[in-house]
Amino acid sequence: MVKQYGVLYQDTRRALLQTENVQDAGVLARMLVCQASGKSQAEFLADRDLYASEKIVQEVASINENREKLPCDIDGAVIKVNDLSQREKMGATAKFPRWAAAYKYPPEIKPTVVEDIVVQVGRTGVLTPKAVLAPVRLAGTTVSRAPLHNLDFIRERDIHLGDYVTVQKAGDIIPEVVRSLPEKRPEGTVEFTMPTHCPDCGSVLVTEGPITRCDNSECPAQLIKNIIHFVSRNTKYIHSLSF
Ligand SMILES: [Zn+2]
Repeated sequence: MVKQYGVLYQDTRRALLQTENVQDAGVLARMLVCQASGKSQAEFLADRDLYASEKIVQEVASINENREKLPCDIDGAVIKVNDLSQREKMGATAKFPRWAAAYKYPPEIKPTVVEDIVVQVGRTGVLTPKAVLAPVRLAGTTVSRAPLHNLDFIRERDIHLGDYVTVQKAGDIIPEVVRSLPEKRPEGTVEFTMPTHCPDCGSVLVTEGPITRCDNSECPAQLIKNIIHFVSRNTKYIHSLSF
């Protein structure tokens, strides 16, 4: 059992998957080496020869530091026992080998600038603000847009037009504005306000709490998005459609 953030994990691998701290990864890597050598943790810690695990910690940290220079994108490192006889001794569960453990790095966070905030009308008429960002390379792709969800989200993160912000990819896929950097705020930034009229059909918008909506059932933006939804994979799954 591995205790991590007060939660007991059944095995080292699962705990490694949950940790975002390289020091924790070091402790867990040591435990993995213990398992491989068949020694208890106390025996292991007393054995100076086995302090090679410190090298594992350093290696995991150094791979992270040099991530940018690698020819491909990575989101973690895998620690493996390289002695084949030890691998055999450790065996495997139905799902994974016990002699390997994955360590996932915390998401990459980068600064950029909010150049504009645009609003889009969704299928149900709800308006979603989106940040137009100065392009930034993040976890393998160039990010230039990020959803801002609603007005509450923008207020909570104190995002102004023209602000410096930090961005990350949630689950390494969807770009997300983490926070604004008010200490770097240039003069003349503008606080964002929702439009009063639909950007697509011009109808007066309705506001309910943090939600702003276009109630016009003939709003072209909503009609087009409804058709796209109707033919999409999750509904009718129509392969082609023409007008
Ligand atoms: Zn509309």
